Amino acid sequence: MSNSQKTAVVTGGAGFVPSHLIDRLLGDGLKVVALDNFVTGNARNIEHLAQRPEFSFIEHDVSEPFDVDGPVDYIFHMASPASPIDYVQIPLETLKAGSYATHNALDLALRKKASFLVASTSEVYGDPELHPQQESYWGNVNPIGIRSCYDEAKRYAEAVTMAYHRAHGLDTKIVRIFNTYGPRMRLDDGRVVPAFIGQALQGEPMTIFGDGSQTRSFCYVSDLVEGIWKLAQSDFHEPVNCGNPHEMTIREFAEAIARHCGIELVLDQRPLPPDDPKLRRPDISRAKSLLAWEPVVSFDEGIKKTIDYFRGIVAATAI
Ligand code: NAD
Ligand code: UDP
Repeated sequence: MSNSQKTAVVTGGAGFVPSHLIDRLLGDGLKVVALDNFVTGNARNIEHLAQRPEFSFIEHDVSEPFDVDGPVDYIFHMASPASPIDYVQIPLETLKAGSYATHNALDLALRKKASFLVASTSEVYGDPELHPQQESYWGNVNPIGIRSCYDEAKRYAEAVTMAYHRAHGLDTKIVRIFNTYGPRMRLDDGRVVPAFIGQALQGEPMTIFGDGSQTRSFCYVSDLVEGIWKLAQSDFHEPVNCGNPHEMTIREFAEAIARHCGIELVLDQRPLPPDDPKLRRPDISRAKSLLAWEPVVSFDEGIKKTIDYFRGIVAATAI
């Protein structure tokens, strides 16, 4: 069957990453049904699709059971709060998105005989003792810390996905997403990319947590979406890291944002939140060999596009 005859369901479709994934799937000729309850997403992210007959949207909390009409070939379970300030504010919704909602999406996949992909995260590695992180590493997660509602929900999501694969023979995929950025992130979602860019563009000091020596590795969203789509079409069932291995300290990231925005670096140092991982960089050998995938967008190119997007958002909110 060609892609133009296939249908994908995307939970969390009005979110940052899922809305880009939907654009990619529609671009390949699939029909897409998106579900979202807008808990952290934004209708603006999918408003450009409103008139497309191959796209439909259902407003629904996927932690409650759901169904869609007609045949389904792929299910992408992307719904979950994803920013530390979001999931700390709504821990119970976050736990349900990883648990009940994953069950509901897996049950739909069983009923429809569809293949299933769950958006997991580098947070399953916690504050890692192994660097860079390989999929074989089991992680170092605080099960009762403030991030545990997210980390443990995602670990559970992986466990239940593997159980459906083993018990029912369901065709399942697990992508472990590392810090991804780009247009359509929420300006106020608290993650470091929108936080620093928003502050730089509005003439405010950048709120750096701790001494800024902790590292992250930032992946541009189009690269991630390419990896997710390749994984969905593969026949590999164990977790696969998708991210960009280009690692930097948060202090270096602040300096880069100041340079790209043409401002002087001014920092407002705040305490480091508990359990904030000190080092994070994906080992992407598995994705490279299995999927022939690796990021192609440089940091400079991706960050320029993202700053341009946020310039528009800041200008619109200033009116
Ligand atoms: P996002 O908040 O922009 O998108 C998530 C979407 O899910 C939002 O539109 C939200 O309203 C929706 N949602 C949440 N709970 C829901 C529910 N119960 N029912 C219906 N919709 C619900 O975040 P994002 O960064 O685009 O993340 C998308 C997925 O990728 C998440 O599962 C996240 O955990 C995962 N992920 C993202 C990153 C990243 O760096 N962006 C890193 C690791 C994992
Ligand atoms: N961070 C920061 N200032 C901010 C927001 C985040 O210094 O205003 C730091 C945060 O402590 C972490 C890193 O930037 O070390 C990445 O944070 P983010 O919330 O983007 O993602 P995550 O911690 O989930 O990787």
